[in-house]
Amino acid sequence: MPFTSRLQPISATAVRVTDSFWGPWLDRVATVTIPTQYALLESTGRLENLRRAGRREEGGYQGYRFNDSDVYKWLEACAFSLIARPSAENRRLMDQAVEIIAKAQREDGYLNTFVQLQHPGMEWRSLSMLHEMYCGGHLIEAAVAHRMATGNDELMTVAIRFADHVMSIFGPDKRKGTCGHEEIELALLKLARATGQAKYADFARWLVEIRGTRPSPYEAELNDPVAYNLSPAGMPLLLKNGTYSGEYLQDHAPIREHETVVGHAVRAMYLYIAATELAHDQNDEALENALLRGWRNLTERRMYITGGIGPSGDNEGFTHDYDLPNHSAYAETCAAIGLALWGHRLNLATGDASFVEAVERALYNGALAGISLSGDRYFYANPLESRGDHQRPEWYGCACCPPNIARLIGQVGALALAETEDALLVNLPIGLEAQTRHGRVRIESRYPWEGQVTIEWLEVTTADPFALRVRIPEWCADCGFEVVGANEAAEYENGYASVERTWTAGDRVKVEFDMTPQWIEAHPAVLDDLGRVALTRGPLVYALESPDGPVPQRFTVDASAEIEESWSSDLGGVVRLATTGTSVLDSFADGLYSEVGTQEISDAQAHLIPYYAWSNRGPSHMLVWLRMM
Ligand SMILES: [Zn+2]
Repeated sequence: MPFTSRLQPISATAVRVTDSFWGPWLDRVATVTIPTQYALLESTGRLENLRRAGRREEGGYQGYRFNDSDVYKWLEACAFSLIARPSAENRRLMDQAVEIIAKAQREDGYLNTFVQLQHPGMEWRSLSMLHEMYCGGHLIEAAVAHRMATGNDELMTVAIRFADHVMSIFGPDKRKGTCGHEEIELALLKLARATGQAKYADFARWLVEIRGTRPSPYEAELNDPVAYNLSPAGMPLLLKNGTYSGEYLQDHAPIREHETVVGHAVRAMYLYIAATELAHDQNDEALENALLRGWRNLTERRMYITGGIGPSGDNEGFTHDYDLPNHSAYAETCAAIGLALWGHRLNLATGDASFVEAVERALYNGALAGISLSGDRYFYANPLESRGDHQRPEWYGCACCPPNIARLIGQVGALALAETEDALLVNLPIGLEAQTRHGRVRIESRYPWEGQVTIEWLEVTTADPFALRVRIPEWCADCGFEVVGANEAAEYENGYASVERTWTAGDRVKVEFDMTPQWIEAHPAVLDDLGRVALTRGPLVYALESPDGPVPQRFTVDASAEIEESWSSDLGGVVRLATTGTSVLDSFADGLYSEVGTQEISDAQAHLIPYYAWSNRGPSHMLVWLRMM
């Protein structure tokens, strides 16, 4: 599967999402999420840190050392939100934030308020822990989105000055060093595209290439007491059995030698997103193979059915194959977002639809669960089981996830499509109108609730024939594809149903996906799921939550029983799935143990809801993998 596809992404500015599912999410992000998050950036001192730096103060830093990144990520989310849903008030908040950020930047281009306020003189002293380039990466991504939304360079100027400053210190003929938390690599690639300056891509390539080579700059920091004491609690994460391993931050081996996904899950995803883009069109088989090896290890052995990844809270990341505990699952929202963005990038590199499976899985399940239906409460960890012990707070001290899910929702229209000179690809059948290089296209659907999708050319600007390719999801056992009024059969290739012809305005294609609910079982090596099944319908994973039936952990499902589908207007409007089984009653008089036969069992009905919609009705028990009769 060579990385030689000519696929190009579609810009967020070219898409208007009209979707009945994502449209309300975009409205909510614009009216609730963006303003409430801004208020939290203010009340938690994140903006004040930047103001203090702007006033050239020392001391008074509030919060975690990487808190600047939350402001930048919010700003990126705000920019995408403004593209999708213009708002004078959000624009005012964004302008305010840009002004504060610009003032905080030092004359030489450096910008990191934790160091500027709390540890002046300690710039770049602890690459493993201080997140200076990570924060800067989010600044760059924000600047690219900001320019897309506004057309002005106010934040881009700040980002370029920061990038140039970093490149004046680090590089092939300068100091060897990368950031402990990958992010700037993929951001520099965006900067290279936005500015047309190849030097940023070259620097990103160097950062990816030197990671994992020896001597390791992070290992040296373990022996530098000054660096160590900048983050003494974090440094032991670099060790394995008492010696430096680097797995936590993907410094264990050069990238072409990576065998499995290891360490901190978000870091790994961000590294591989950049590496995939760098491998594109390079004819670098060793790098392609390493990335595909990692992807297969991830999606075939280390991914929850929800698209959650990274089961362990200890390293916020990966453990070993088939280790997918449900109740203690970490599955950070940011990691599911990273998985979606990596899958998207692999699809662009290869033109293969199979990579979009994980994009869809994460987007509709493990990532979307990270935000409440009200748009102002969040999950950091996304377990697949709750015993009443997991609820959504309004914010986190480490608040990477809330603005991250907001910026992902803002980009959903851009994730839906891709194009080449001779094809338009529909990766996600989201209701939208888009300006493509072949003309203006409209997609109408009630996805993920219904399987019928209509794609119509409103205007065609290409006289030559080109292909319309629609991804056929792997969960779809049966699908219909029809060019309305024409007698052309689709060809099936790389996971797409494809018709190539001369298109004219008014031409329509109808696609129908079979949305019959399916019971899924896991590989038997996943011991936590043995004897259990999960229910899916289309791209959605379902869960049983205690308001809708017996305590989920006491329920045993009859997977051969009929499943009833019904539309329900609660939870923002969902298709509920009802099924039957048995439930263990609370029958013990007292004591913990009794001879078999004491437990009473009764028939029970369960009404399952989409996983993303759980924990919106107060404390609850929840379970994805149900015990099976
Ligand atoms: Zn996060």
